This record gives sequence, C-alpha cells and structure tokens, in this order.
Amino acid sequence: MQLYNTMTKKKEPFEPLEPGHVRMYVCGPTVYNLIHIGNARPMIVFDTVRRYFMYKGMDVSYVSNFTDVDDKIINEANAQGIDPGDLAAHFIDECKKDMEALHVMPATIHPLATQEIPEMIELISSLIEKGFAYEKNGTVYFSTRKFKPYGKLSHKNLDDLRAGERTLKVTGEDEKEDALDFVLWKPKKEGEPFWKSPWGDGRPGWHTECSAMAKKYLGDSIDIHAGGEDLVFPHHENEIAQSEAANGVEFARYWLHNGFLNIDNKKMSKSLGNFFTVRDILEQYDPQVVRFFMLNAHYRSPLNFSKELMESAKASWQRIVTARGALEDALKAAGQESMTEDETKLFAETDQYVAAFEESMEDDFNTADAMAAIFELVKFINITVKDEHSSAFFEVLAERMDTLLDVMGLNALVDEGDLSDEIEAMIEKRQQARKAKDFATADAIRDELLARGIVLEDTREGVKWHKA
Ligand code: AMP
Ligand code: ZN
Repeated sequence: MQLYNTMTKKKEPFEPLEPGHVRMYVCGPTVYNLIHIGNARPMIVFDTVRRYFMYKGMDVSYVSNFTDVDDKIINEANAQGIDPGDLAAHFIDECKKDMEALHVMPATIHPLATQEIPEMIELISSLIEKGFAYEKNGTVYFSTRKFKPYGKLSHKNLDDLRAGERTLKVTGEDEKEDALDFVLWKPKKEGEPFWKSPWGDGRPGWHTECSAMAKKYLGDSIDIHAGGEDLVFPHHENEIAQSEAANGVEFARYWLHNGFLNIDNKKMSKSLGNFFTVRDILEQYDPQVVRFFMLNAHYRSPLNFSKELMESAKASWQRIVTARGALEDALKAAGQESMTEDETKLFAETDQYVAAFEESMEDDFNTADAMAAIFELVKFINITVKDEHSSAFFEVLAERMDTLLDVMGLNALVDEGDLSDEIEAMIEKRQQARKAKDFATADAIRDELLARGIVLEDTREGVKWHKA
C-alpha cells in the first residue's frame, strides 16, 4: 500500500509500527456551531481509510478530538448568554448525529480538550524543563528556534515567515522571544473558563490538546496523523514541535491531508452567503448521496460542491441502489440451490473487479477509481440478474457487492419498510401538490419515483405503487 506523506511530499509504502495494528489520530472540529459540509470531508475520507484497513484485517485505533474550549466557543456562548461548556456539549451531540447519518463510525475514543487539562499541563511542564518553552507573565510559549526541525512538515521558509510575523505582530503577544513562537498556556480573561496551573489560572493553547491526547491514547509515536490541508501550518507543525521536543521520538510516521471543499468554485464563507451546514444539505439529499459524492473525488484534490454535481451523484448512486434491488429480487425468486460449476466460473469473473478496487485503494486511497471498479461489478450484476441462477450464486454476488460498498461506508440495500415509508410520504406530498393545483411539483414527484423504478397508479381506492 502506498500513501502520500505530506512530510516527504511523496508516496511511500505503508508499514504500521506494529504489524496488523494501525494507530491514527484525526483532528476533529471546534464545536461552536453545527458542522459545515467542508468539515464532513475529513470525517468521511478518513473514516473510509479506517474502513479499508479493517477490510484488510487490521486493528485500527482511531482517535479524534472535539475542541470544546476555544475563543470562538466562548464568544458564541457569551453572545447567546449561555455557559460555553453547555454550548460545546450541545454541538458535540449534534455533530455525532451528523456523523451517524453520514455513516462515519464513532472513533475508538473521542477525547474532549476540557477533560485532558492535567495531561496538557504535564506536557507543558516537561517542555519548560527541557528548555523548549518559557513563561512570561502567566503565558507559556514554545520556543520554535530551540526545536531545530521546526518547519519540516510545511516546508516553509521560516525567515520569510518570521519577517511576515513581525509586521503582523499581535498586541498582547509581544512578549514572545521570536515571531514564530506559539502559545502553550494563556492566562484567564474576565468571564472565561479557566483551570489552575503552575503558571496561574488559564487555559491551554489549541495545538497542545492534540499532542497530549495522541500521546495518552495512542503513544509517543503513531502511524497516521490526518486532517484538512489548512492544518498543515501552523497546527500540525506545532504539534510535531511539542510532541517531538517532549518525547524525543518521531511523532507520526505518515501525514495525510484532505483537500478543501469549495462551493460553486468559491471558498465557503458566511459573508459570501454560500455557507452550508451538513444539516442544510441533508434536508435536500440522502446522506449516502453526500458520502458517495465525496468519495468520487481523490481525497487530496480540491472538491467542488454544486447542485449540478450533487444531482449527478444522486443519479449515479441510484444506479447502484437499483442494481442491488434487482439482485435482491433475483435472490428471493431463485430456488434454494447450491452453485453449479459454471456459476463458480462466472462468479470468478468478478475477482477482477475486487482486484481493481483494492489496487485503487492501495494507491493512496484512490476512492474515485475504486468506485469505478464497483460500477464494473454493477454492470456485471445488471447482466447476470436477467438469467436464472441458483440462490447461492446470487448470495455470493450480493455479499461481494455489499462488502466493497461497506468499505466506502455505503449500503445500497434499501430496507423495504423504509422504502415504503419514503414512497408513501412522497405520494402524500404529490397529493397535496395536486390539491393546490401545483401540477409541476406533482409531476416532478411522479418523475422522480419513476426514475427510481417506482410506478404510481391512480385507483379508486387511492394511489398505489409498484416496482417497474
Ligand atoms: P475546524 O473545526 O475548522 O478545526 O475544522 C475541522 C476539520 O475540518 C479540519 O480537519 C479542517 O481542516 C476541516 N475543514 C474545514 N473546512 C474545510 C473545507 N472547506 N473542506 C475540507 N475540509 C475542511
Ligand atoms: Zn489537531
């Protein structure tokens, strides 16, 4: 397996430190709002990375934090007149609901910054002891000049950065000995949450939490550290400085970063009016379509999100669901027989699609090509379901398809009960539209159902539906 490592800017063979066990840390969101559609990208792509390792039979220890104390959280809580801890707890719950909808597995551990303060204090103390950090009036800074490899991940020219920082110098941070030094501990301000420490009441800097949590839950050296590309500098560079200065060993072997998601080719921002939460998008699209859409791009490429692209993803995903439905129908209709020799041979033809799927995933998680391999299997299914086969044959075929889709966190087998609830709800909407003489909407609903292979019939007892 080859992984692109931001540290070396190359694809490298992946070897976990302990054979058969992958330790990975993925930086999680700061919880002061519902998560946005961009935040869903690292969640979905690194969940897929995790699922692929599991598919290969490896154990994965997956740690992903929630930053539950931060300026943005405090400002938002003050604006709403509520406790910052309550605000963060609320949005952690909401984030977990979105993750569940998107089939993102819960992490092995989801640590919270506020629950790990003693570990962070210990880390900061050890950095001071070793001469990598210094305190000035209740603020502790990391001394970037003391850590010689500083800058090795982001490949930045530190002199240029230092020159830039000097002109941008922020008031209140002018006690820093060097423009690139960063805060490990900051003193409390009026009305802010705080904890006791050897340097006075205050709270840790953001970078400190990930170093402390990775060490506590995964050890001094981990296999994979991941997050969005905006985290390379300064966040991940600072994590490396803290962890390697304190522990004296390499912090993470592979650094994986996802590209950004843009909306209609523009950066998502509240001021541009193109800011969408996952919740907004799930009002319009099935969460599986969102997941399918994200995995149809390579995780390192920029990804454009637009209505047209989502509509096209919806139609493509529907092809998979339809094929899986047809396979299920064929399976139910087939006699309880075992596979014939010919069927064994026919089934072996699908080995090539599994091989293509794995080859793509092993090439730095090329999920777009892996999805193309799934579509080859879909084509094969669409042809073979037309013929008579044993139930055993259809069963292994279904299992093969479900296994590959499960690596992607997708499930194409629609529960008949859910399907009927959903169709009944759409029929009801159509009836209301008709009553309101909104025939365009009524027709659009009928067409959408038809596209999914559902035919409506107006009868004297009301509207009935059946599969085309
Ligand atoms: P934050 O809460 O801003 O720290 O973000 C949580 C995670 O989402 C980090 O890994 C970010 O890099 C990632 N992220 C934020 N915005 C985007 C975006 N537009 N596209 C992709 N990833 C993003
Ligand atoms: Zn982090």
